[in-house]
Amino acid sequence: MNNVLVNVAWPYANGPRHIGHVAGFGVPSDVFARYQRMTGANVLMVSGTDEHGTPLLVQADKEGVSVTELADRYNRQIVEDLAGLGLSYDLFTRTTTRNHYAIVQELFRGLYDNGYMLKETTMGAISPSTGRTLPDRYIEGTCPICGADGARGDQCDNCGNQLDPADLINPVSKINGETPKFVETEHFLLDLPALAEELTAWLQTRNDWRPNVLKFSLNLLSDIRPRAMSRDIDWGIPIPVEGWEDNPGKKLYVWFDAVVGYLSASIEWAHRSGNPDAWRDFWTDPAATSYYFMGKDNITFHSQIWPGELLGYQGKGAKGGTLHRLGELNLPTEVVSSEFLTMSGSKFSSSKGVVIYVKDFLKEFGPDPLRYFIAVAGPENQDTDFTWDEFVRRINNELANGWGNLVNRVVSMAANNFGKVPTPGELTEADQKILDLAEQAFDVVGEALQHSRFKQGITHAMHVVGEA
Ligand SMILES: [Zn+2]
Repeated sequence: MNNVLVNVAWPYANGPRHIGHVAGFGVPSDVFARYQRMTGANVLMVSGTDEHGTPLLVQADKEGVSVTELADRYNRQIVEDLAGLGLSYDLFTRTTTRNHYAIVQELFRGLYDNGYMLKETTMGAISPSTGRTLPDRYIEGTCPICGADGARGDQCDNCGNQLDPADLINPVSKINGETPKFVETEHFLLDLPALAEELTAWLQTRNDWRPNVLKFSLNLLSDIRPRAMSRDIDWGIPIPVEGWEDNPGKKLYVWFDAVVGYLSASIEWAHRSGNPDAWRDFWTDPAATSYYFMGKDNITFHSQIWPGELLGYQGKGAKGGTLHRLGELNLPTEVVSSEFLTMSGSKFSSSKGVVIYVKDFLKEFGPDPLRYFIAVAGPENQDTDFTWDEFVRRINNELANGWGNLVNRVVSMAANNFGKVPTPGELTEADQKILDLAEQAFDVVGEALQHSRFKQGITHAMHVVGEA
């Protein structure tokens, strides 16, 4: 059996989805999963809402509700958006389940036992006025690597590098504008340099990835450093180490736990399906394949942090180590990342008001036009501007006039002749040509979809429609 795992980026539970979100991870992953199922593959497609981390905490404070209330609300909204769009998950869960906590802690313990978690004293930011820890994302300043303004404490969106807030030039708090104070604090860091050789060897075998994704991932290796996997925060998964587990002010970094979600969701799905070991078909069968779908701002976590966690957990780094309870787990077959869908040249952003919500779109047009548009004209290999003119042109000319018209004629002809089977005539040369074209299209379109080349696949399918 051909086991195919489709891992879809976990939406952060801090608001409804806009069309920029679903252009990156949603529609492409679903087209891929549906295609794989049609070929007869055994497909598992999992995801869920990512509910830890500071943004949710800050927003809950602002609204005066508990963080779990807020997560519940946004989980519901996101589920509605994604279900409305017809995304065919086998399981869509959450990072706040007991199962997820247990699997995340298992991964951490394996990494810790194998020596890939370094305990270090680092500099953490606090707010001088409140004395509270200031989350990385809420510190802004000039990027020390590329010099761009508005870099966040955890990452620069301009150059894509992960950052430490203490490295930012002229850091300020986004919450109240004050200059943060940096104090000493202890953390666990994932020893990525000890995993670099294995990561490099693995990435060098991934030459059928989208070129921009592979290039970006290989570039990350040139500046590989230990990354903090714990945070000074009271909302998250406890760190399963004596003396840390009960510390209310220390939790695992949200990204450490979010990427484990693919594995924990697969295990949850297996339990729910009544065969608790079924997840192994997708994770420990060496012939199984796994595809991860996301926007480009998440590549780092999928081509470096997550494979790093997997390698360290199974003792495959410079420090060696042993296998742990879950066994030897497959690394990603492919990290399929999209570029950004923009509007009038800007990235979609709820906070900046540059936004079209999925819910509003679905109310007006239903799911098919949006799915078609993203598949044929989405940001597959480059940032792509969404315009209503282009949307209307694609839907009217291609979907309604092209495909709709063909379906209508075929169905009308069948309806008009219902009750009698017309005698087939001789096939003309033109008949044979269109039949051959349609026949061959299964291979041509299939080959494209197999490699996540959605534009190419759907464009060829629509060419056949045009000929027909
Ligand atoms: Zn930068």
